[in-house]
Amino acid sequence: MRFSAIIPVLLSAAALILSFLCLFAGSKKGFMEGYAVVTLNTSQIGRSLFNTSESSDNPLVSFVDNITNSIESELQDTLNSFAQDLGLHDFYSAHLLDFCEGYFLPGPVTNATLEKSEISKNVTSCSNRTGMYHFDPRQTLQKELKASGHSEINVTDLDWPSEIDDGLHKLKVASNAMFVLYCIAIALMGVALFTALIGIFFEGRLAAFVNIVVDWLAFLAIGIASAIATAIAVKAAHVINHYGNDIGVSASKGNKFLPRKRFRNTMDWNAPDLNAWPTRLVLRVSKALRSNKQFTQASIDRNNVRAAERRAKQREEHARKHRYNARNSEDTAGAHQQDVNERGERDYSLFSQAETLVDNHDHTDMLHRLAHHDSFDSLVDEVGFKDKLRDPYFDSNAHPNALRPVSDKHEQMVKSLPDELWKHIAEYLNPADAACLAVSSKTLAEKLGSAPIEALNDPLNKHFKLSVLHFMNEDLPRHLLCFPCAKYHLRKHPGKETMKIDYVNNPLFLCPSAKTSVLPRMRLTPDRQLPYGWVQLALRARYSAAHGVDPETLSRRWRNAESGWNYRTRYMAHDGRLLMRVVSQRHVPPARMLTKTVERHILYEMQEFTPYFSVCSHWRDGELMNLCKCALSHVPSPPESYLQQLKKAPTIDRALAHPNFIVRGCDWCRPARRCPDCATEYLVEIQMVEDKKDPATPFKHSIVVTRWSDLGDGSSPYTSPEWAAMNGVHVPEHEGGHEYASFSHIGRRAVSGIFESSLSGSIPGQRMLSLNPKNEKLGEEGTLVLERHIELWDSRGALAGQHAVDAKIVLWVRISVAIVGHGRKLLNAQPI
Ligand SMILES: [Zn+2]
Ligand SMILES: [Zn+2]
Ligand SMILES: [Zn+2]
Repeated sequence: MRFSAIIPVLLSAAALILSFLCLFAGSKKGFMEGYAVVTLNTSQIGRSLFNTSESSDNPLVSFVDNITNSIESELQDTLNSFAQDLGLHDFYSAHLLDFCEGYFLPGPVTNATLEKSEISKNVTSCSNRTGMYHFDPRQTLQKELKASGHSEINVTDLDWPSEIDDGLHKLKVASNAMFVLYCIAIALMGVALFTALIGIFFEGRLAAFVNIVVDWLAFLAIGIASAIATAIAVKAAHVINHYGNDIGVSASKGNKFLPRKRFRNTMDWNAPDLNAWPTRLVLRVSKALRSNKQFTQASIDRNNVRAAERRAKQREEHARKHRYNARNSEDTAGAHQQDVNERGERDYSLFSQAETLVDNHDHTDMLHRLAHHDSFDSLVDEVGFKDKLRDPYFDSNAHPNALRPVSDKHEQMVKSLPDELWKHIAEYLNPADAACLAVSSKTLAEKLGSAPIEALNDPLNKHFKLSVLHFMNEDLPRHLLCFPCAKYHLRKHPGKETMKIDYVNNPLFLCPSAKTSVLPRMRLTPDRQLPYGWVQLALRARYSAAHGVDPETLSRRWRNAESGWNYRTRYMAHDGRLLMRVVSQRHVPPARMLTKTVERHILYEMQEFTPYFSVCSHWRDGELMNLCKCALSHVPSPPESYLQQLKKAPTIDRALAHPNFIVRGCDWCRPARRCPDCATEYLVEIQMVEDKKDPATPFKHSIVVTRWSDLGDGSSPYTSPEWAAMNGVHVPEHEGGHEYASFSHIGRRAVSGIFESSLSGSIPGQRMLSLNPKNEKLGEEGTLVLERHIELWDSRGALAGQHAVDAKIVLWVRISVAIVGHGRKLLNAQPI
């Protein structure tokens, strides 16, 4: 609610009423008679006729002759009532919708006893109201003559000048325009009143803006209409006075109805009268405003206090609205000094006492503060010494394979605990961690025995065994971990491997179970696959060139001759994970020529009914195929010349002759999409692609489906979360698997963003939406899953507390977790 908005309401209402009054002025007898556009004075009509002495066959002249003959002596007296004798009225006042007629009282002509101010108009009747009304004096007078029984007299006989008719006829268009503009203005004022009413209830700039626009339009319309009315009145009065003078007809323009007089009044104000009340009011107000009292120290202080109170109130209001606790400025650090606000800034007022940033001007102290207090050759500053201060046993920055000193003291502490306690601790760890603990030191190996290592051979613990084996990656450059066998095999051509399509006949290593197991791999496109071994090699390249292959060398380009699809792949290692981009593209016909079948043949590989372009295993769930179809529907047709169009049908369309070839897609198909179930993103576009084989039309529209995927950290095709999610592999959590929720793993940046920014330095501008909006809440569910993990951890901790013999065990569990980390690193030196 905004109560100040009541003012425009009142003003709009007043304007509306006034405009209505303008329009309906003179619609009733005597109603606002002074507001006529122009008044025709016919009381002296025919006066010139008395000057004719010759006889004529003009019926009027003979009529006049009769009068003059019969009452010659009263000629001068009857002159006044001559028009009345003819049946005419003294005046005719033209209004917007009609005209009124009447007599001057007590008489039309001023004389010695009658002053002009004493003459008043007495309206006897008004015509019917008509829209687009145009005042035609000749027609009106003729009607009057006929009505009074003088039908034999023609207005022309009164020497009515045809110039008046011509002059008034020219104003007809203007008067029509004036009427229409008045109507528009009244309608706009109605709208303005309505919007002003709305403005009371709706705050905001839009309501105010609409109000202002409507008000201005109404103002403009009424202004123009009034200007036209002025012009009409001036012109009509001029024409009538100019040509009608000879026959005793005159006209006066209305002056109340028109803004002219008001303007004149305003102009008078240019020379102000110092004693007039408006002048005195203005002077009084300006004196109060410019009073020197406003600038005294006391009033400044008062104003500052008031401003501070207002600010505090606003802060509290804001805090209440957004539900947080407003802090006082004293609560904030560094704000304990006087005149310092909550941001640690000093409030300075132009009129307050001059202050400086330093409270006490102790220059010596200032200089001392700038000085360096420590000795420049102190031992702490030496980098080398800092290294010596690091913990030699638990330094996480140290290289995992570096030789570490053995701490006898800590070994003794580990040894001091009974074997059973250590075995109890190992039970709390998962098989992989227990094995790592068992091999982390000689002492622990003796205490735990070989049981944790042997447990890894249990088929149920296969994934834990794989994760333990994966830790040895860096130490075995010539070997590669075979996941189906859970063994390291010797690479066939270390450092010389190239990715071949026929990966079966070109294996990376010789595996005895090659024929009985399934090689972990991923489907890229209908004719290409990516074996997991290449992900391992690409990620091992970070250790040394001997360990693997550069991810860049995996990039390929190929074409599926059968379908016409082209593919480009690119790989990139980022933050220990392999990222992949697959661009699939194909020329497409114009949308007009597409049928459902053609669409299907473009997008689907018909044998397995899978998409021709690269997809993750969840493509069926989402909107991917509909996105492609939507994109296809935006492909424009080739230009059709006007002649060609005319040959088909007798219509021409500019859009058909000059189609826009840059296809941007619609709001729905333009944004990039992210699969909610795996780390894959898609972007579907229509691009102009050059076809060098076609010299006639080298540029064709192509559908381009770009897929970005995070292939994971290469730890295992079964438990690496990204890879497993993408290929639909599910390993239960108690066997070492991980759940994957795409939107909670998206982190700070999407895969496409990371990929494109490192390749081209720019991030794709498209928005990122979910590929499967029906699962839209998965983002939230993803966080729920995470919370559940934390709860699990907490309950596990509590369990440990319940089962523990004493608090010491809990302490040792924690220590053992720390040791496990070292065990993992130490393991690298001792291959199993
Ligand atoms: Zn094998
Ligand atoms: Zn679209
Ligand atoms: Zn997916």
